[in-house]
Amino acid sequence: MKFNDALKDIKIYEAGKPIELVVREFGIAPQNVVKLASNENPKGCSPKVAKAIADNAHRAFLYPDDSFYELKDALAKRFSVEDENIIIGAGSDQVLEFISRALLSENDSVLMSKVTFAMYEIYAKQMGAKIIRTPSYEHKVDEFIEAYGKHKPKIVYICTPNNPTGDATSKEDVLKIIDAVDKDTMVVVDGAYMEYASAKDKKYHIEPNDIMGFDNVIYLGTFSKAYGLGGMRVGYGIGNTPIIKELYKMRPPFNISTLSLVASIEACKDEEFVEESIALHKEQIVRYEEFATENGFEYIESYTNFITYIFPDSMNSTELSDRLFKEGVIIRNLASYGMNAVRITIGTASQNDKFFEMFKGAVT
Ligand SMILES: *Cc1c(COP(=O)(O)O)cnc(C)c1O
Repeated sequence: MKFNDALKDIKIYEAGKPIELVVREFGIAPQNVVKLASNENPKGCSPKVAKAIADNAHRAFLYPDDSFYELKDALAKRFSVEDENIIIGAGSDQVLEFISRALLSENDSVLMSKVTFAMYEIYAKQMGAKIIRTPSYEHKVDEFIEAYGKHKPKIVYICTPNNPTGDATSKEDVLKIIDAVDKDTMVVVDGAYMEYASAKDKKYHIEPNDIMGFDNVIYLGTFSKAYGLGGMRVGYGIGNTPIIKELYKMRPPFNISTLSLVASIEACKDEEFVEESIALHKEQIVRYEEFATENGFEYIESYTNFITYIFPDSMNSTELSDRLFKEGVIIRNLASYGMNAVRITIGTASQNDKFFEMFKGAVT
């Protein structure tokens, strides 16, 4: 069987390891597994959302309202845009896929920072496009402008805050990059963690309205992180109507489930839950910063719900993650991104206690 040549060069996305795997491999009880690997909300989801899902379970046999009217309406109000500026995806991942398929072909290239969300590369490579990366993991305006001028990529990805490094790009810098590219290039502003950045420093706050003045920019958001709905798979893209209309041609019908739709609509009504989640996060992340300093390694200042520890040569991120994994603590090793570093999702107080304890045990 001959598969597309484009697939030769694609590495399968390495998802955060699931709790089930630790249970199966090491016989650790599920309640004792601490999963800090996929940037899920440690508070879970809003109890109101959980109730709405349960109350609507009997509707599982029905396809959802394919217009996603109520969800789009809630998002339109939240962001002061129109319904027609919004496309819903099975996670913002699916919107990334729509963008890639709608724009790219074999002779195109795409531009992104050195270390960023792995799916940009995978979707672009599926279309046979070439990947261009700036020298730094941070989104440096000069580096983006230089690489843009040299390669004229079809898509520029700005992940802010950036995953898996946790740093953010200021609104001012994002606008500088947007200004530097011409109208034939799509700029994707991926704000999967924007709620955390906005709560930390307004300088990094970007919302769809900041980009609505451009015909070649799309903003992406998700319910998977601050809203605690990773398992429901709901994300969105917001941009000018002509962009959204084209992306709609890529969308299969009923692309989120009936219960995902219920959950995300309900989540929009409970902003208090997001505020509480961020409050917990702020209180706990400080412990991770102090822990790094006390133990003599560096961390990247985080604008997300996770923190990235960068190790000196005397420590090895792969060995450490493997050891913690066997103890039932799942974190994300960044060796595959070329970094001797780990990414840890900030958990609840007790999950974090366990992480610190196990970490100390693993390095001594
Ligand atoms: C988590 C994440 C997404 C999308 O997640 P979905 O669950 O597919 O909505 C997109 N971009 C970044 C940078 C992420 O970390």
